[in-house]
Amino acid sequence: MMEDFQQLQQTVESCTRCDLCQGRHHVVFGTGNPQAKVMFIGEGPGEQEDLKGEPFVGRSGQLMDKMLEYVGLSRKTNIYIANMVKCRPPQNRDPSKDEVALCIGYLRNQVYLIRPKVIVCVGRIAATALISPTYKVTKEHGTFVERNGTLLMGTFHPAALLRNPDNKSAAMEDLFRLRDKLLELGLLQPEEPEHNC
Ligand code: SF4
Repeated sequence: MMEDFQQLQQTVESCTRCDLCQGRHHVVFGTGNPQAKVMFIGEGPGEQEDLKGEPFVGRSGQLMDKMLEYVGLSRKTNIYIANMVKCRPPQNRDPSKDEVALCIGYLRNQVYLIRPKVIVCVGRIAATALISPTYKVTKEHGTFVERNGTLLMGTFHPAALLRNPDNKSAAMEDLFRLRDKLLELGLLQPEEPEHNC
């Protein structure tokens, strides 16, 4: 494991371990506060993320940021956001098991350095890789499981919410549950009264 966050980022940004390096514009290492107590982990960069070099941008990123704002969380202050793979799979396909296996060490190193108390798996790929291979987001979202002193929770991917807005209120409930857990653990300061999304 690397002990220096910037050194890790520089290493990842020049990585050619798997074929996903060939079509990328940018390596999408992650964004947010490396001292955050909460990490959000998605599957991999899409087109907008690849062009900008930042996870969860474009329409789905805007939706995610807006929902996070309702519960006092922001990539600018108190969370860190990363992906299972750091380079864009072509045509936004799911990353293959081999690609995840080659890249996951970087994510593990990020988790090792950030030491989050809570990890939110955003979407099926992250939840099946990090919580359980049989994880079903539609059935198990919003439930905390404890692993080696870290709480993990799965929730809907914002791109899936754009395709199926019916799940938006359930996703918001997950974030309210997350907020309540963070307040309970003293990891978040009480904020303004909640609004409807
Ligand atoms: S996806 Fe990960 S392993 Fe593959 S080239 Fe990018 S950084 Fe390296």
